[in-house]
Amino acid sequence: MNVTTRFAPSPTGRLHVGNIRTALHNWLLARAAGGRFLLRIDDTDAARSEEQFVDKIRADLAWLGLVPDGEERQSARLSIYEQAFNRLRAAGRIYPAYETQQELELKRKVLLGRGLPPIYDRAALHLSEAERAEKEAAGIAPHWRFLLDHAEPIRWQDGIRGAQHFDPAALSDPVVRRADGSWLYMLPSVIDDIEMGVTDVLRGEDHVSNTALQIQMFTAMGAGPPRFAHEALLVGSEGKLSKRLGSLGCDALRDDGIEPEALLSLLARLGTSQPVEPQPDIAALVPGFDLATFGRAPARFDAEELARVNAAVIHQLPFARVADRLPAGMGAQAWEAVRPNLHRIGEAADWWQVIEGPVTPPPFDEETRAFLQLAADLDRWGDDPWAVLTAALKEATGRKGRALFLPLRQALTGLDAGPDMHRLLPLIGQVQARRRLLAAAAQ
Ligand code: GLU
Repeated sequence: MNVTTRFAPSPTGRLHVGNIRTALHNWLLARAAGGRFLLRIDDTDAARSEEQFVDKIRADLAWLGLVPDGEERQSARLSIYEQAFNRLRAAGRIYPAYETQQELELKRKVLLGRGLPPIYDRAALHLSEAERAEKEAAGIAPHWRFLLDHAEPIRWQDGIRGAQHFDPAALSDPVVRRADGSWLYMLPSVIDDIEMGVTDVLRGEDHVSNTALQIQMFTAMGAGPPRFAHEALLVGSEGKLSKRLGSLGCDALRDDGIEPEALLSLLARLGTSQPVEPQPDIAALVPGFDLATFGRAPARFDAEELARVNAAVIHQLPFARVADRLPAGMGAQAWEAVRPNLHRIGEAADWWQVIEGPVTPPPFDEETRAFLQLAADLDRWGDDPWAVLTAALKEATGRKGRALFLPLRQALTGLDAGPDMHRLLPLIGQVQARRRLLAAAAQ
């Protein structure tokens, strides 16, 4: 069967880790089934939607590598919603309501005060023609509610939460359109899901009760509902997603040196029974993706874990993937030498500086200076110059271990630790290495 998923952000802000995760899972669900992944811009709220965010969403998805197979925009589809609205209204499934916010609030308070659930009482449904005409004559424009069918129990088999059941009588008829004619997200989303052939709606569990209402909208429009799955929310390591983590967007992550593949490797498996595997190629995340492995408990997002996954991804990135982000002149050999020491790709430039020089070694005592002078005088080189040099020095001086290696590393790199000297020394080169040893010996 053909699978079509969609990611449906509202362009009222930047993408953050929470909705990046939703986008990724929809992309994976589609890819795993050889299906289609759509981007749907939910911009019916003209007051809060901004074009700059539409552009950013596209750019962020491109940076992440979650390329949609198609893009739709709700603001371009208003006439389609109008037609569906008219059909539902003619069928008696949408009705006008005239209560003000204050009146509705008061009704809620009264019900809650009596210990009853605050369900809308459908008073507007029972207005007579004359009462309705009176309201309209008084200039009160109605908002519009979808009439739930109380005789039709709502059930679905959720891809993550299992069997779900809602009693429609325990739900308020949802408002689908405001008095100014603007749309709430609920009905346009259903209309789009039907028209775009969406087979799977995968979203956060904050949408579970919307799903209950939307299932009846699908049925009212004569369509079979798609499969639904609701994932547990993302929380921070302390049990709540902090404001900072929660609002973390692609720009901030990129500025922090986080690679998209690292973020996606983590988000693909967080909250599932599968271990996180750092994947430098996100296509590798596809085969293991399985909703059956998703748990009901909140998924914990931990910035330190992201940093670890990021380093592990970088350690696998081939030169061709990073070449344009390295300092001019830094080649594949240098990349491979320093890669295991990186937490961020930007740090490669620091190591390139160590290779290119100049370096500043720490002060050495007299004996060590003599040792470094000997190293310069021996001037041994070869295919593996570090092995050749240290073997010759060991034999000549009897030094071994730290006493042998550390002063050499310090003199040659200016640092106590760093990439494997077997790989670094050939990059520093024989002439430069000798100069550094002599300079350190002559302090
Ligand atoms: N625009 C809605 C949101 O961002 C879409 C929800 C959905 O996936 O249906 O919450």
